[in-house]
Amino acid sequence: MPIRTFNQYLLRWFDKYGRTDLPWQCDPTPYRVWISEIMLQQTQVNTVIPYYQRFMEKFPEVQILADALLDEVLHYWTGLGYYARARHLHLAAQQICTEHHGELPTDLNHLMRLPGIGRSTAGAILALAYGQRYPILDGNVKRVLCRYYALEGWVGEKKVAEKLWQLADKNTPTKRVADYTQAIMDLGATVCTRRPQCGLCPFSSNCVAHKNGCETAYPTPKPRKKLPVKTTVFIMLQNPLGEVLLEKRPMKGIWGGLWSFPECSTVDEIPKWCSQHLDVAPLKCDTWALLRHTFTHFHLEITPVLVRIELDQVVTLKNILWYGTQPTALGLAAPVVRLLTKLTRNQKTGELLL
Ligand code: SF4
Repeated sequence: MPIRTFNQYLLRWFDKYGRTDLPWQCDPTPYRVWISEIMLQQTQVNTVIPYYQRFMEKFPEVQILADALLDEVLHYWTGLGYYARARHLHLAAQQICTEHHGELPTDLNHLMRLPGIGRSTAGAILALAYGQRYPILDGNVKRVLCRYYALEGWVGEKKVAEKLWQLADKNTPTKRVADYTQAIMDLGATVCTRRPQCGLCPFSSNCVAHKNGCETAYPTPKPRKKLPVKTTVFIMLQNPLGEVLLEKRPMKGIWGGLWSFPECSTVDEIPKWCSQHLDVAPLKCDTWALLRHTFTHFHLEITPVLVRIELDQVVTLKNILWYGTQPTALGLAAPVVRLLTKLTRNQKTGELLL
């Protein structure tokens, strides 16, 4: 099939099977498209939908997002992961309001200067919201193109990425750009998935990987590297009211800006931590089962320890709070949510842990 018909096949398929009722497709303003594109990075549509709806209800306009506290934004992102996306979104909203009069820029370079917006996201915003002809190259599109052309090499390699951009650009039509953009993302998300359903694909007679019966060999997997394992201890300090101490993490590093438990390297260091930071001694320590959380570059093994303390007076330190039975809306790291849920459940069932 000559390249010029790639988009015709795809658009014909889209007219029949494409998704047209996603929440961000009704009234696709630049702001709505932008939020959805950021949420959809590394996250599947079905997971994104409820988060998107809650987020848009709370922050329906860019100015409202710019004026919000970062804690509020992170709270509405809690559970979606990759929290740098939320921090960048918040920063970008402030820049849009101060530097672009509250409107998303309409050209690629200005869009790409905003935090968290790369070439593919900028292309998607321009294509979907403004109908401008720009290619996109998210994970779904890469998979379709790698299979269609049986393109060898890991997509993280510069020369493979350049080739993919060339192909993405060649296949992007001059007309119906928004439909084409949605169509190629949809095809990758619903048909050309990890286990492709080639019988339903508009490219089934032309796709090289399919013709050769080796669809799942593409995209070429990333060269495997064993992830290192790091360890930490979460100190879950509980006062007599049942509140637990949380501290705000620095903006840089893992879970930047989120609230989490204080940490130390080993369980033996807990008494020293309590003495240094709160001037108290633990009454009792209870070590919970190990939790493992995997980041892109390493596994983190967490030993949670519930530590009961008595305090003569309320301790207030910068960037800490006592998280109680009426929790405040905060951005929380996923393992912290799990541990707080377990704590609350245990307290509700009256199970005494200490
Ligand atoms: S024919 Fe199969 S492998 Fe090729 S693009 Fe379609 S779904 Fe993907």
